[in-house]
Amino acid sequence: MPNANPEIKYTKLFINNEFVDAVSKKTFTTLNPATAEKIIDVAAADKADVDLAVEAARKAFAPGSEWRSMDPSAKGKLIHKFADLIQRDRSYLADLESVDNGKPVGDSDFDIGMAIDCLRYFAGWSDKIHGDTIPVDGNFMTITRKEPVGVVGAIIPWNYPILMAAWKLSPALTTGCTVILKPAEQTPLTALYLGALAKEAGFPPGVVNILPGLGPQAGAAISGHLNIDKVAFTGSTDIGRLIMGSAAASNLKRVTLELGGKSPLIICADSDLDQAAEIAHGAIFNNHGQNCCAGSRTFVEASIYDSFIAKAKALAEKRKVGDPFGDGVQQGPQIDETQFKKIQDLIDSGKKEGATCVTGGGRWGEKGYFIQPTIFADVQDNMRIAKEEIFGPVQSIFKFSDINEAIERANATKYGLAAGIMTNDINKALLFAQSVQAGSVWVNCFDIVFANAPFGGYKQSGQGRELGEVSLKEYLETKTVTIALTKKV
Ligand code: NAP
Ligand code: MG
Repeated sequence: MPNANPEIKYTKLFINNEFVDAVSKKTFTTLNPATAEKIIDVAAADKADVDLAVEAARKAFAPGSEWRSMDPSAKGKLIHKFADLIQRDRSYLADLESVDNGKPVGDSDFDIGMAIDCLRYFAGWSDKIHGDTIPVDGNFMTITRKEPVGVVGAIIPWNYPILMAAWKLSPALTTGCTVILKPAEQTPLTALYLGALAKEAGFPPGVVNILPGLGPQAGAAISGHLNIDKVAFTGSTDIGRLIMGSAAASNLKRVTLELGGKSPLIICADSDLDQAAEIAHGAIFNNHGQNCCAGSRTFVEASIYDSFIAKAKALAEKRKVGDPFGDGVQQGPQIDETQFKKIQDLIDSGKKEGATCVTGGGRWGEKGYFIQPTIFADVQDNMRIAKEEIFGPVQSIFKFSDINEAIERANATKYGLAAGIMTNDINKALLFAQSVQAGSVWVNCFDIVFANAPFGGYKQSGQGRELGEVSLKEYLETKTVTIALTKKV
């Protein structure tokens, strides 16, 4: 049974397999977004703590250390053990995630399942990462070695706390790196618990370090650190830009970025209208719209526009909003007051700029940061709600008359994370899949993500890819070794 008051065991920094206070003794408060009330104070890392974590992570990565000399298959087994422990404590973790983040407890459980899949997929790679033998000219043998990049700094957002932690920890650990993970200040609790599970699984001290703290302090200390080899970031495009700048200005550390989006979903008149309305609804309203690849621009073909709006409205009005621990609740609160106000401001701008608010448009309930499922019709491409990432439960519905026009408008954004099309015409689907500038394209579905399929952004939605085999190279260096031969046979 879900428990809305899970015991909170860990609130200190996790460095070198120990929970410790911040050097400054500073803390920050994490809130329950469903009530806007304090849950607990958590240690706030800054530069001095990042230095200590880097020291531990460097020591764990040093040649001859337990971790560096561990057999690759043993590393894989440790990651599987870590996944087993998450599975063992799955219901507790789901409660903790929902208290700290506000998402319905069933959604937290779903995320944890995805996190476990991710760890297991990458665990399987631990003994399968290898270089090549290259047929060079002359009396030489040339081989490549794939080596871990080193100490990885991972900075993650609050919208999928456990899942984002798994997306960063899994490839880093399977490639043999050591990690310093900074969770978002709104959602530090499950990441800290993962630290305890990593220790219980048997990772040597310093391999996994968890440093809650604020972005401009702990986050900036990581991205600008001279002794961190790579930073893996998920969050907003603006902070991604800062992180890349500080990586460049410090030690040119490697950078991967998973950033924002304004993903289009094209609904063609030939699609099954009920199914299209359902998928478009989930595409934007799942996770309260706090989803980097949310289908936040719904383009609907003119001939079915009015009937689509009616179906979308009915679905939004049926959506159950409320306590994340309540029965059948599909939508909890937004993460915090800042996001709540930003979403309200964008909703107000939509009204002012002449879009038709079909349903919602205001606060839900009396306390916490809830927003009504909101739909705008008659949205024009130049409106703020058409261009800016709202990151909330706001569906913007546009009208189009021709697939080529829809593709052109779908691509008219600085983002390129994801896109979708609902159609029964294979030619339209294939034209769209080839033409749209996005890292993930969904046909007759949306937001379907697998641990073994790459994920990431075109344009200002990011750099590099996560998940799948292709992501491993983001955590590896390639070393070329050329050996002179006494005799070529
Ligand atoms: P954010 O402000 O960019 O924060 C993300 C992380 O960066 C947090 O841990 C944050 O710490 C940290 N941070 C803030 N300022 C920093 C700085 N100066 N240096 C280093 N780190 C810093 O984003 P958010 O508001 O938490 O998350 C929402 C955004 O993330 C949306 O734009 C969304 O699209 C994007 N997102 C993208 C993906 C993807 O896969 N592409 C996935 C999820 C979310 P604090 O918590 O202290 O602010
Ligand atoms: Mg919180």
